[in-house]
Amino acid sequence: MTSLVEAGPRLLRGGPIGTAIRETVAADVAAFREEFGFQPTLAVLVVGADAPSLVYLHKILDGCRLVGIGDRLVELPADAKEDDVSNALRTLQADPKIAGIIVQQPLPRGIPLRVVIDTLDPMRDIDGIHPLNAGLLSLGYAGFLPATAHASVEILKQSGIEIAGKHCVVVGRSNVIGKPAAMLMLRENATVTICHSKTEDLPAIIRTADIVIVAIGKPNFVTGDMLKRGAVVVDVGINVVEGKVVGDVHFDSAVRVASAITPVPGGVGPLTNAILLTHLVQAARAKATGSIPLGAHPLEVPAPEAK
Ligand code: NAP
Repeated sequence: MTSLVEAGPRLLRGGPIGTAIRETVAADVAAFREEFGFQPTLAVLVVGADAPSLVYLHKILDGCRLVGIGDRLVELPADAKEDDVSNALRTLQADPKIAGIIVQQPLPRGIPLRVVIDTLDPMRDIDGIHPLNAGLLSLGYAGFLPATAHASVEILKQSGIEIAGKHCVVVGRSNVIGKPAAMLMLRENATVTICHSKTEDLPAIIRTADIVIVAIGKPNFVTGDMLKRGAVVVDVGINVVEGKVVGDVHFDSAVRVASAITPVPGGVGPLTNAILLTHLVQAARAKATGSIPLGAHPLEVPAPEAK
């Protein structure tokens, strides 16, 4: 019998999974509008013009329109003050139609993330940046997850990759991707190692991994010779090199060794936006029904789903 590796690696594409998720979201949004008589809306708050993230945010807003979710873009100038940011958030949160809010990051110098965190309603924090949601995740409770981390694990689950009991090495420890992805893999009962820029002999550690999730923002950094034969590779990186989008994994060498790999573009990216829309619908329904979204409540936290 031909092994997976001999036959070439399986490409884990986020596009088809994202399309299926969007179809479900569109039906959920139609049902929501029928039941509650208004269109749930996603708001994006941008402070200062930052070209790459603006492109990403516009994609999210376009995605909302396709599934019937309302979209609102609030733009503040780069010299906005802390009060301008918190006031903009408060104004959005006074509108019951605004079910979810995303704040563009990185924020300009002079606007600490704390300003956002102090004002943002955790129930509208559909990209899981609020410490309440981060805390719920790390304790094993349900809450709003950072969408990219969620997508990087969901692509494995939806592709039928076995996670429980496997050794997963997460390269990168950012609050938005590496750390939450590691927590999610732990929740899926993987044995997890988190690596970062100070990790000694990173290749040796990566070589012990059954599953590698790479989110470091360094183009083509993880090469095939660092991988165990048959490893599953999730490349979260998005880098532009000479006008071409490449991941953090050197695809051409990794495909010779991996049993499955997410391409860049076309892997985690397309799934991230679809996942974000599911979070928005969950937030809208929770708000409209007065229920607690996924246990994301500071006082009434339900029993953990997993240890
Ligand atoms: P980040 O905040 O810059 O964090 C990078 C992490 O990588 C840090 O923990 C850093 O370690 C670690 N790192 C950097 N160089 C390293 C090295 N040589 N060896 C080991 N670890 C190293 O980046 P991020 O926001 O997590 O984003 C990571 C990547 O994901 C970027 O390419 C970004 O464009 C991409 N991204 C993708 C999506 C998507 O939908 N697919 C969405 C958002 C972002 P230290 O903590 O020690 O500094």
